[in-house]
Amino acid sequence: MAGKKSDGGRINRGHCAFCGQEPHGSTMLVPSAVAPDVYICTDCVEQIEEAVKEYRGETASSKAQADINMDSIPRPKQIREFLDSYVIGQDAAKKYLSVAVYNHYKRLAQQDDDVDIEKSNIILVGPTGTGKTLLAKTIARQLDVPFTIVDATVLTEAGYVGEDIESLLTRLLQAADYDIAKAERGIVFIDEIDKIARKGDNPSITRDVSGEGVQQGLLKLLEGSIVNVPPQGGRKHPEQKMIPVNTKNILFICGGAFDGIERKIAQRLNSHVVGYSNSARKGVNRDNFLQYVAPQDLKSFGLIPEIIGRLPVLTHLDPLDRDALRRVLTEPKNAIVKQYEKLFAMDGVKLTFTPETLDLIVDKAVEYKLGARGLRSIVESIMIDAMYEIPSTDEKTFEVTRDYALEKLVAANFEVNKA
Ligand code: ADP
Repeated sequence: MAGKKSDGGRINRGHCAFCGQEPHGSTMLVPSAVAPDVYICTDCVEQIEEAVKEYRGETASSKAQADINMDSIPRPKQIREFLDSYVIGQDAAKKYLSVAVYNHYKRLAQQDDDVDIEKSNIILVGPTGTGKTLLAKTIARQLDVPFTIVDATVLTEAGYVGEDIESLLTRLLQAADYDIAKAERGIVFIDEIDKIARKGDNPSITRDVSGEGVQQGLLKLLEGSIVNVPPQGGRKHPEQKMIPVNTKNILFICGGAFDGIERKIAQRLNSHVVGYSNSARKGVNRDNFLQYVAPQDLKSFGLIPEIIGRLPVLTHLDPLDRDALRRVLTEPKNAIVKQYEKLFAMDGVKLTFTPETLDLIVDKAVEYKLGARGLRSIVESIMIDAMYEIPSTDEKTFEVTRDYALEKLVAANFEVNKA
């Protein structure tokens, strides 16, 4: 259909070859310089301009990064102090995280492009229940940025049963109330990253739906690119309008238990010291090989080198010993014991646990190999009757003795699989 010029050169007949719309309101059609009767509308031109800006990193979100004031960014030691008030132990991980987050902020504040500071995505290796998720959550709490936890095990390559990799950004968008600029500076914690390790040494024997393919998919997210995110998550539908999200400034923290990686670390350390004097071996603490974890161990475990390269900050978490578990019960800002004291205080009752009771709780957690995760369910089993009875009595104090706790645990028939 031929376009017709009206007043002011505005073309008001015909339709846009991009969106198919006829001109309406203040939009006008711009004719092609080479093809007759081919137009693009000004709405589409504006959208393309936005997309180009986004591509070049000139969007509102990247402009906002210039607003970051270095003085207002917490220093690594301050970040560490904040972590200390919620997380027990884990010195190495806290130090690495504090520095990585601080550098991440410097990166956001960077105004000139002469030296491009690369992203400091993090990988935490440590047994389950030692505080990986807690560390990531606590960091997000301090920074007041959108934060989401996703489980790598639900991710699959596009086209397979499970969730598309892009859907992990859907959760971040949801956490940011669909404020894209906010989401673009959020933190994503990818749990169980070890579960997408390549299973065999030969990647091409069978199609590895949940392993290497997913790692490949994750690459583009980790390094920073514009990803089309399904707003409702799950699978992409052709009719669903995608939201473009730039992952350039999203900090990814990955965590995994990497069961059995100690063997690979030990092997590497042993092979390195073969032929050398014993002194090379002397410094190695054989009780905790995890502290020597290095990128090559992740590779032997089945992560592809490209992924390892995009997770440059590698650190470990220590198993929690009795002493650490005891401290987990009482010391953190929202320690389990403090939570129960608060619950009772709201009924006007002063709750106390005797030191022997706390020791017993730790004993049970160790005995059942439940770690920190089990502490809460043990305390819950001990406290359930009191929480049921006390609000209907006139009691003003309640002391949980070792005998009382033991009696309740026996009555609750406390078993491992309850946790
Ligand atoms: P994971 O390492 O498997 O991600 P989590 O961080 O989810 O473990 O820990 C589970 C729970 O155990 C936490 O919510 C917290 O209550 C407790 N916990 C684990 N490690 C610590 C720790 N180092 N300090 C304080 N609490 C901890």
